[in-house]
Amino acid sequence: MSKITLKNLRHSYLSNPQSDDDWALKEMSVEWSDGGAYALLGPSGCGKTTLLNIISGLLTPTEGEVWFGDVEVSHLPADKRNIAQVFQFPVVYDTMTVYNNLAFPLRNRDVNESEIDWKVREIAAMLDLSDTLKKRASGLTADGKQKISLGRGLVRADVNAILFDEPLTVIDPHLKWILRSKLKELHQQIGNTMIYVTHDQTEALTFADQVVVMQEGEVVQIGTPVELFERPQHTFVGHFIGSPGMNVLACELDQGRPVYGGSAVETTGTVAVEDPSARLEIGIRPEFISFADQGIAVSVEKVSDAGRVNIVETRHGDDIIKLLVPDGGHVPSENAFLKFDPDHTQVYANAWMVS
Ligand code: ATP
Repeated sequence: MSKITLKNLRHSYLSNPQSDDDWALKEMSVEWSDGGAYALLGPSGCGKTTLLNIISGLLTPTEGEVWFGDVEVSHLPADKRNIAQVFQFPVVYDTMTVYNNLAFPLRNRDVNESEIDWKVREIAAMLDLSDTLKKRASGLTADGKQKISLGRGLVRADVNAILFDEPLTVIDPHLKWILRSKLKELHQQIGNTMIYVTHDQTEALTFADQVVVMQEGEVVQIGTPVELFERPQHTFVGHFIGSPGMNVLACELDQGRPVYGGSAVETTGTVAVEDPSARLEIGIRPEFISFADQGIAVSVEKVSDAGRVNIVETRHGDDIIKLLVPDGGHVPSENAFLKFDPDHTQVYANAWMVS
């Protein structure tokens, strides 16, 4: 196991990249600490698989370096990097038994049979595959086969990291959440560095201690689930994480204090923005807005029942502002005022947080 460091990485699938858009990965430097549980989260096409394949060695980056601990591995092929990778679709040998499938990565590395037996049974028990060990893999459902793939990724103790590329896509929804919590448990037991690629925020937030959020080939924030929720560094993070996402509202600055819709908005500090043409916005999550006797004047447009809370959609001019009201809480029928919690009101310049 080792720390993984990516230094000044950039990747383009084109032979002669010119514009910013030609780069599938924009320049990034990222450190993945030894034994960490990471999620790589972002919408389809943002570059997650590209980044994962660069770490595993399936792809050589156009620019930059990949280090495992103190060793540069940028030019080492995938089979020399000692990485286990679990893909979206099962990779199993249909004609082999479940046992032999799980034993395969160990036999390939000449591990002795008694150790293999112990390890295979341990992993099979963790994944509820013990009863199927003697069956041929071909007889298993898609779920069962993907569990074998997971098992093959988890069975080796000596790997530098285990990479999961949307491994639960083919899994039945009911089993999905069981496996998701199981993977988290396995990380705690095994302690390997794990990087889990997904576009699903629930999967990312339940699995990872640290979430790496990507947008359009760029890492926009690395943080704990709480940090991403409470201090989104980029409006994309505020938008993408949370349900509903953060409200992003165009604002102005008056002596370092944000003004929205003609009213001063309280935050915890003052803001300094050097670029006078910067696009300025306030970010406030629906969880941190409440109705008040005075504040930002809105009209109430829609109330949706979301279980223990109601999502209330209000309008101020052209802006829709969403807030959460606990089930049974008072929702004014027409005109109302909103109060933003100053501790959770952030200011953004050109989408990046400045306070
Ligand atoms: P998804 O969640 O859909 O798998 P992703 O976040 O993993 O998406 P990538 O598959 O890494 O994103 O793709 C990033 C960008 O690179 C996309 O614009 C994609 O079209 C492009 N791309 C990916 N693979 C190739 C390839 N082999 N050749 C050319 N372009 C590619």
